[in-house]
Amino acid sequence: MGRIEYSIMSDDPNHIAALEKAISDKYGDDTIQNPKANWDEGKEKEYLAQMKELYQKVKKNDQWQEKIDLNGIKVSKKLFNRDSTKCCPVCGSFARKAKDDVCLIKFDCCETCFEKYVDGREERWIEGWRPNENNKNRS
Ligand SMILES: [Zn+2]
Repeated sequence: MGRIEYSIMSDDPNHIAALEKAISDKYGDDTIQNPKANWDEGKEKEYLAQMKELYQKVKKNDQWQEKIDLNGIKVSKKLFNRDSTKCCPVCGSFARKAKDDVCLIKFDCCETCFEKYVDGREERWIEGWRPNENNKNRS
């Protein structure tokens, strides 16, 4: 048996190898080693369809596995692809990083403001406290 490497990079040979392994698990080892030996055309078509389906599934899965870790909360990066040009209502800076987007969605401020004012004091923030109202003398 050859060495099978697992990889979720799309379009590389190792990715195909991983798919072949998955199909092999389903149909048995003979399938991969000698696909044409005792197969008719219909089975080959089914095989190719399975390959395609699996390929798409892995690709889709891969996207969803890209998560951003915010304060221990894992959030899918896919959710933050839009609205990335928002600016922070507290300090006015534009959200440049994915984490800024996460903070904007969750706390209505950028990551910097989150670290400055919200982190560890979420309750106060959620109740409506804002630095420009109660903290004017400090920058
Ligand atoms: Zn800010």
